[in-house]
Formats: sequence, C-alpha cells, structure tokens
Amino acid sequence: MKRLFLLASLAFLSLSVAAQPDTPVVQFLRENPARAAFNTHSYEFLPTHDTPAPAGYKPFYISHYGRHGSRSDWGGGQYATVRDVLSRAKEKNLLTSEGESLLREASVIYELYNGMDGRLTPRGVREHAALAERMYHRFPAVFKRGSKRVRAVSSTVPRCIVSMNGFTARLQSLQPDLDIDLDTGEKFTEYIATGANRTIERRTSAALAPRRQQMMASLDTDTFMKTLFTDPEAAKQFIPNPSAFQYAMYATAKVGEAFDIEGDMFRYLPFENVVKFHEDNFLSAYLNQCNSELNGELRLPLNKPLADVLIRQADDVISGKVQRAADLTFGHDWPALGLMCYFGLEGVSEKLSVDEAAANWLPSWYCPFATNLQIVFYRFTKYHEILVKFLMNERETAIPALKPVSGPYYRWEDVKAYCANRVPHTRIVAHRGYWNGNAQNSIASLKKAQDFGCWGSECDVHLTADGVVVVNHDGAIGGLDIQKSNSEDVRAQTLVNGEPVSTLDEYLTQAGKNRDCVLVIELKPHYSEEREDILVDKCLAALKSHRLYDPERIAFISFSHHICRKIAKLAPGFTNQYLEGDIAPAVLHAEGINGIDYEYPVFYAHPEWVKEAHDLGMSVNAWTVNGKEDIEKMRDLGLDQITTNEPALARKLLWEVCNQ
Ligand code: MG
Repeated sequence: MKRLFLLASLAFLSLSVAAQPDTPVVQFLRENPARAAFNTHSYEFLPTHDTPAPAGYKPFYISHYGRHGSRSDWGGGQYATVRDVLSRAKEKNLLTSEGESLLREASVIYELYNGMDGRLTPRGVREHAALAERMYHRFPAVFKRGSKRVRAVSSTVPRCIVSMNGFTARLQSLQPDLDIDLDTGEKFTEYIATGANRTIERRTSAALAPRRQQMMASLDTDTFMKTLFTDPEAAKQFIPNPSAFQYAMYATAKVGEAFDIEGDMFRYLPFENVVKFHEDNFLSAYLNQCNSELNGELRLPLNKPLADVLIRQADDVISGKVQRAADLTFGHDWPALGLMCYFGLEGVSEKLSVDEAAANWLPSWYCPFATNLQIVFYRFTKYHEILVKFLMNERETAIPALKPVSGPYYRWEDVKAYCANRVPHTRIVAHRGYWNGNAQNSIASLKKAQDFGCWGSECDVHLTADGVVVVNHDGAIGGLDIQKSNSEDVRAQTLVNGEPVSTLDEYLTQAGKNRDCVLVIELKPHYSEEREDILVDKCLAALKSHRLYDPERIAFISFSHHICRKIAKLAPGFTNQYLEGDIAPAVLHAEGINGIDYEYPVFYAHPEWVKEAHDLGMSVNAWTVNGKEDIEKMRDLGLDQITTNEPALARKLLWEVCNQ
C-alpha cells in the first residue's frame, strides 16, 4: 500500500513538475528558438513606436553605442569536433538521416568559419546599415535641420571598424551633406571596450561551477543519440562523453545564424538541453557584466568611464561647445550591457540572484549582435530643460529609479544626477588584509581582500637586521625586535593562522595574482633615516622584480615624514600618503607628497583638509574606520579611501547612499 502511495505521489509530482509554467526566459526561447544563441543571436528588430515628446520639444542630437554586427566565431575546435565525430560515424554507416543532415550543416559552418575568427559577416554589415537607415528616418530633424556633423569612433577591433563603416556609409548615402568623421585607436578602445575583471570572473566561475556540474549531470543524452545515430551504442565509441558533445553541438548551432545559414540547428538537441546550455552561457555574462547581487557593486564602477564619455560628449553639444548631430560609438557586447546597467535601464539592470536571473533575465534581447543603446536628446528653446529618452535596441525604455517628465522622456539633469551618484566615490582598503577570522598581514588575509573585491589591501613592512623586508604590523614578534633580528629568526615566527611571517617577496607574489586589488604598503618608521632609505630602496627594487612597479597596482603610506619625502623623490607617480595626521595638506604638497591618510578623528577636527587636499590634486584616506557612523561620516566628507577592518560593512554603507 505504501509503495502504491509512493508511486502515486511520484506520478503526481512528475505531473506537477511537467505542469510548471514556462519562465519568461523559456517562453522567450519558444517564441524564437534562434534566441538560444544568446550573444551570437543576430539582431532582431522588433516593431516599435515613438511616444510623442512633450509639446514643443524636438530631437536635436543622438548618442549611440552599438555592438558590432553578426560575426564569425572562434572555437574551430567545437565545429571540428562535431564535424569529425559525425564524419567518422558516417564511415561506419552509423548516421541517421538527421545525423547526415547535421554533418552537412556542421561542415558548412566549419568551412565558413575556419580562418575567419571574429570577422564581421555580410549579415553584420547589413544589420548596421539597417540601423542607420531606421535612425535616419525616425529622427530626420536631427540630420536635416540640426548640425551636419557626425562623429563616429570605433574600438580597434576590425569587426567594429567594419560595422562603423557599414553604418556611416548608409547614413551618408541618405544625407550626402553630412560631414562624418571616422576614427579608431587605442585611446578610444580604452573606454569603448572595458576590459575583463579577473576578480569578478573568478567569483562568477566559483558561483556557477556547482550549477554547471549539476546541469551537465542532468542532461538527457539518449534522445539526441537516437536522433543522430542508427546504433547509439556503437556510436559511443566516437562519443565518450555525450554531454560534452552536446555542448559542442550547441556551440556550433549558436553561430549558424551569423552566416545566414538556413534552419535551426538547435533542433537536433532536446529543447530542455538547449534551455540548460543557454542558461549556462548567459548567466556568466549577467554575473560578470551586470548589476547582479553577486558582483554588481564591483562591476558598476567599471562601467562608469564609458558612461562619463557619453555624458561629456552630450554636454559639449548642449552647451554649444561643439556642433554635432550625433556621436556614434562602435564596440562590444559586454560594455554595451555595462552601459545599459549603468544608466539603470529597466530589465537589463535589475539586481538579481543567480536563480532569478536564470528565470527572468532575457539575454538575447539585451545583447544580440548589433545590440545598441541610443540616447535621443530633445529641446524646446535654449531656455527650456533638455529632455532625453533611451532606446534599447531601438525600443523606448525606462529608468525605473527616475520620474519621467512624461512617457519615456526624462530630464537630462536628472539622468546626470542619478549617474553621478551611481557608484560610491569612497573606496575600501582592507586594513592589514581582510583578516576577519584569519591573521593580520597574512597571505590569506591579502587573498581574502582580493577575492572580496576590495579596492586595496594594506600591509606593514619592516627591514630585518640582515636586510630582508618582512610583513608584520608590530616592530617585534615573539620577543624579537625585527630590525635587530635576522630574517631567519623572524621567519620562524608564526602568525595566529599558522602562516610564517611573510617576506615582502612572498607577499608580492600573492599581490601579483590579482590585478584589481591595489596593494597599499605601509613602510614603518625605522631606527635611522639610513635604514629607512634602505627599506624604500629595497621595496622599490622588489616591486620592479615582481613587475609590480605600477602606480595602478601599488600605493605607499607611512608615519615617517622622511620615508614619504623619499618616495616622493624616487617614485613620484605613486600614491604616497602621510599617516601621522599632524601636517596640513598644502605643506605636504609643497614637498611633493601627494596624499594624506589620517586617523579618522583628524577629519572630524579638520574637515577642511579634505577639500584642501582635493583642490591640490591629493588623495585622502582615513584609518581605521570601523563604526557605522564614522564610515558614513568619511563617505559624506568625500574621502577617496577608507581603511577598515570591516570591508563588508563598509561596502554595504557606501552603496546604501547610492541606492536611496
Ligand atoms: Mg598599517
């Protein structure tokens, strides 16, 4: 009886599972299976309309960021795998007619893509020409009555340059009077194609690894084997890992559209598996690039430089500093996503957990080939406010955090104020590493600060009697005065987590593993200026030998005025903050010392020193800021960094102000 009940329950459960409604993502795939290609899905223009602008307002300028159009792919390995495996099966007469058909399609893809890694396809050019045409006909006033100048810049990647050419050539053909400047170069690529961030990528991989493992283990492998092979058992000699082979099939199917290959290659796979591969693919894009719960607070600041450029360009046009109808920027998918998130656009920029994103985030809508963001600017007269609307892939969209004037029209000043406050100004330095639950100044504490995504991690260094630089806070350890002891004896001492005291060399090896976390080195005062000089020289030499002699990756702090002066002289490009708290910024500035890092009560007593330092181009840090009120006070004073034992609390408080 019990068994019957169990079976009935299981049957009911499976029916219940089967009856689960599709998530928005699955629904989206059912509407058009080609969307399973996600970021290699060709551009889909969906019908749209324009909400009338408030009375009297006319468009006069467009800022456009567009990803390159459809391109060939890399990964000849994937296509070769599918083609080669099926070819071998064919020789043994093991292919069904479906298998034969897949072999033909995979062979075509292999031939088309082999040697064409990452090149724009003819379809990609057409996508951009069509975008230009629709923009021109949709906003004729911008190009006919406004300025005739258009500025287009591209990342240095050839597919972006060719996309730019396709777009602007069509624009020019529609309005021959336009004066279009084209340009490309590293200085544009720097902000157009924001680089990968390894800390974020590591966090994403760690978060998704168990999910991927589970997904691969849960795949239906029987269905596709029966679809492709007359004798699935015999075919296994060619396919030792059917799940991995299916993923290769998915990767091959993903790129067919870009070359106008007819037919949906996803049809060879069970739909449920396509859904799983698709999810596995797009979640890393969401977690790496968007405002996810996991990484959003680390990602958003990295999207700022591109947004800042677009804002500055628009302001130059609005103020009349330059005469221009449009700024056209041609780049890539990840920065396009980042930009949409930075402007807080509806849907794409939502802060979601991994599960929520898997169900609701619509990747092929947010970042297909030629994905684009257009900001259209409207004015009435020069006395009226400037209004803007945002078009995501040519459709009007909203910024949920802002109140529009009407429909999708926002005050430009409101958008700018929102962006200015989008990320905290103040950055977090983990004091002696992120040691909570670990040991101060340990390698583990540095690694934890790196993994947490702290802007910086601080450590303290001393010179031993035999001239080795070691990392420890106090001048003595285990009864040994570090300066008067040999390194061997100092190194024999252990920290509370069992690690031996590190040499600076060992510490730099760990620092070198993460480009995104600045190592803030505190050089402790020594018994004589001569010894301090040796310490500085040895630190600088160690940085050079570790290829870390880079102001982007290293900062110096010291209570020793002499050490700060010495660093100012020998390493003037580096952040160099004086710690004692007893000297006004202007005095230090006159000596070439470019920063202050004072105990936080000093800034309660001298709040004016923050502005004084900033006006002189100096950086301002405070130690050791652990309490809620003090963190908030330093944040509100506009400090560049706070050094804290509480990075998690600091991050929460710093971000709260941006999301009020
Ligand atoms: Mg220190």
